[in-house]
Amino acid sequence: MVDLKGQYIKIKAEVDAGIQEVINNTQFIKGPQIKVFEENLAQYLNVKHVIACANGTDALQIAMMALDLKPGDEIILPVFTYVATAEVIALLGLTPVMIDVEPDTFCIDTKLIERKITSKTKAIVPVHLYGQCANMDEIMSIANKYHLYVIEDTAQALGSQYAIGNKQLANDLETKKAGTIGNIGTTSFFPSKNLGCYGDGGALMTNDDELAKKIRMICNHGQSVQYVHDVIGVNSRLDSIQAAVLNAKLPHLNSYEIARNEAANWYDELLGNHPNIIIPKRDLKSTHVFHQYTLQIRNSKKEIRNLIREELQKRGIPSMIYYPIELHKQKAFEKFNTNNDHFPVSEMLCKTVLSLPIHTEMNKEMVEYICKNLLEIINNID
Ligand SMILES: *Cc1c(COP(=O)(O)O)cnc(C)c1O
Repeated sequence: MVDLKGQYIKIKAEVDAGIQEVINNTQFIKGPQIKVFEENLAQYLNVKHVIACANGTDALQIAMMALDLKPGDEIILPVFTYVATAEVIALLGLTPVMIDVEPDTFCIDTKLIERKITSKTKAIVPVHLYGQCANMDEIMSIANKYHLYVIEDTAQALGSQYAIGNKQLANDLETKKAGTIGNIGTTSFFPSKNLGCYGDGGALMTNDDELAKKIRMICNHGQSVQYVHDVIGVNSRLDSIQAAVLNAKLPHLNSYEIARNEAANWYDELLGNHPNIIIPKRDLKSTHVFHQYTLQIRNSKKEIRNLIREELQKRGIPSMIYYPIELHKQKAFEKFNTNNDHFPVSEMLCKTVLSLPIHTEMNKEMVEYICKNLLEIINNID
């Protein structure tokens, strides 16, 4: 699905030098590389504060801790997402309120949010799934109307740009980077993410000075001065070696995004005309950073899709299902679906989505090989 080795070879000198520097000065925790990375990423995102932490799940948890939410408070999130988004909500004694997604963008369906808002609702957590922004104009307008916080889960969409307040993307109109529109943005540097380190890593971003101070405190045991603890915190740090890797990779993030888009365009071109394949929609208001290239097999059943995946695998082509089970059907989360709601779009997507390999080292021959085989397999099944 990814080629981290091929990517590393091209930047080996920078990465190796960065890691060696950490080893030489032995400041493995809180080394100078962390601050450099936080400043570089803040500049890249055009946001006032970036606070690094241990992983993307911690980032979400710390964001919610920083907002002083109380047990029983309700947090709105999409039902079709990675488990981490819901997990931290439940872990803090908050109540996840699940909302269906849009069939073409895979992101939270903003038309369904208002009917789920109660006096206990405190925040909305949009997930910019697969690399494209959720409808942030609508989300911010609902949040303003009901005085809700917005935490953007940007783990899959770092670098994506959104035309806030405008009809569509255009060079001369204002855009904001994913994660910098709501109160807090969170991201992950898991190795396979668009900006991946060589272990675990994550970060939070905000333009709010007070929130930034609090987030930094929570990441470090709630400590204001050493051994003085003002709030309950956690131990969540990015280590210096990971920061060194990220410092070497961040200057390449734009070219990585271009490479992923190139591969996505080839896929679109080769798969876009098949009656049973729905290629991913390009939103007019958001750039796509293609963390995943996810298509839908029209009217598919799980068994048919499994067959397709098995046949692909036989021909040396990996594929993935993000995600096979919606949150409300997961044993750990079904209890939060108190009204026994159905989520028809997510239920459909769990049967039809198929993610193909996409990464920075793909060339046209690889995409052609994958598409040729996929089309052959699908045509044989019909
Ligand atoms: C990867 C991911 C996370 C969690 O990040 P980790 O660094 O693995 O903890 C959270 N949300 C989404 C949408 C993700 O894709």
